[in-house]
Amino acid sequence: MADGLTAAVLAVGSELLTPHKTDTNSLYVTKVLNDLGIAVAFKAIVGDDRAELTSHVVHALARHRVLILTGGLGPTDDDLTREVVAAHLGLPLDEDPAIIEAMERRFAARGWKMPAVNRRQAMVPRGATVLPNPHGTAPGLWIEHPPSHEATGGKRYIALLPGPPREMMPMMDGDVRRRLEKITGSVRLHRRLVRVAGKGESMVEEIVQPIYSQWLNQSPPIVTTILAGLGQVELHLVMQSGDQAKASQTLDAAVSDLATALGPDLVSTDGSVLEAVVGDLLRARGWWVAFAESCTGGLATSRMTDVPGSSEYVERSIVAYSNRAKIELLDVPEALIAEHGAVSEPVAAAMAAGIRKRTGVNVGVAITGIAGPGGGSEQKPVGTVCIAVDGGETRVRTFRFPGGREMVKAMSANWAIDLLRRYLIR
Ligand code: AMP
Ligand code: MG
Repeated sequence: MADGLTAAVLAVGSELLTPHKTDTNSLYVTKVLNDLGIAVAFKAIVGDDRAELTSHVVHALARHRVLILTGGLGPTDDDLTREVVAAHLGLPLDEDPAIIEAMERRFAARGWKMPAVNRRQAMVPRGATVLPNPHGTAPGLWIEHPPSHEATGGKRYIALLPGPPREMMPMMDGDVRRRLEKITGSVRLHRRLVRVAGKGESMVEEIVQPIYSQWLNQSPPIVTTILAGLGQVELHLVMQSGDQAKASQTLDAAVSDLATALGPDLVSTDGSVLEAVVGDLLRARGWWVAFAESCTGGLATSRMTDVPGSSEYVERSIVAYSNRAKIELLDVPEALIAEHGAVSEPVAAAMAAGIRKRTGVNVGVAITGIAGPGGGSEQKPVGTVCIAVDGGETRVRTFRFPGGREMVKAMSANWAIDLLRRYLIR
């Protein structure tokens, strides 16, 4: 990380330790730090408790050169952040008349008199820089301090930020970012997000591990992490470098190696989601698609239409849940259902052909399956799903998805969209 810079983040506030309030500040703080090439080594949520807070501040500053605290800067007795940090660093607190004045003006603007307790927010650890807060009364504080722990060395950089996100965010992204930028120089984290479909996490790992393990030995290394979701795998590539152009070039080459190894399973290298990639493919051809969905109840179409501009290529969708709907709305022959069952490749193909013919679109996609928990048989257990794509040529596949109803529906929708993608790139 940047010059060995690592950070700790402390979210202060007893309300954050209840089931009613989530700490979101640390996520935002982490994002800004990561943008600057500073990795967060640890974060903690600490209640309004002097002993707890002190012990976390001591630990953080002993091990890390950047410490960001949010919350606990308010005017009340339980707001301890300022006192605890100042006490630990041995800095006396001085009242800052400029802060008092600014707060008095803020109250006066609303026709109020400033309550005496607010004076507490004007206490500044000696030598700290006051960060103005245009969105609230509590200003932030920036402290640069000599090492509190001789052995680890290096100056400490500490930011104390107000708790309310709308006050904290502009300060973190403004004053604090600018100050940290001076310390990290041009070093940044550079990222790529590669999306893969149609293979499980371990299968993807098997293919890409020999490639990304080599990136760890180069300087600077590329660190790869694999994240698995329903029917999709994400590869996150991160590289820290002060040379923007070189980092871009190195990452482009790395991504291109992955693309070659993954072949048609590669969905995107720029983070685009599957349904957006399919949308681009359809738009590029000037093609319209229509969906005939049974067990997914419209889920595939819903995902396709999550993409802005999808009205340029999604023509319609028919949820044909019953046999009658398949016969009446999609012209599936009754005899075909009687012979093969509603969940079968011939019926899926007939549904795709039916919607394509009826609507005159370029390509029809059909999904028919058993989402469970009932309705399964020995031959066709729960999770059996047939998906067809018909764009002149017909492709049909049968899947056996694991999991409950929700998972079977999600996997079916994902595969339907992915089979359409594969059809379009063939
Ligand atoms: P404080 O500065 O401690 O008085 O915090 C004021 C308010 O900001 C709290 O009541 C919360 O609603 C909000 N807040 C404080 N810390 C966080 C956090 N880490 N994440 C989200 N909201 C927070
Ligand atoms: Mg608080």
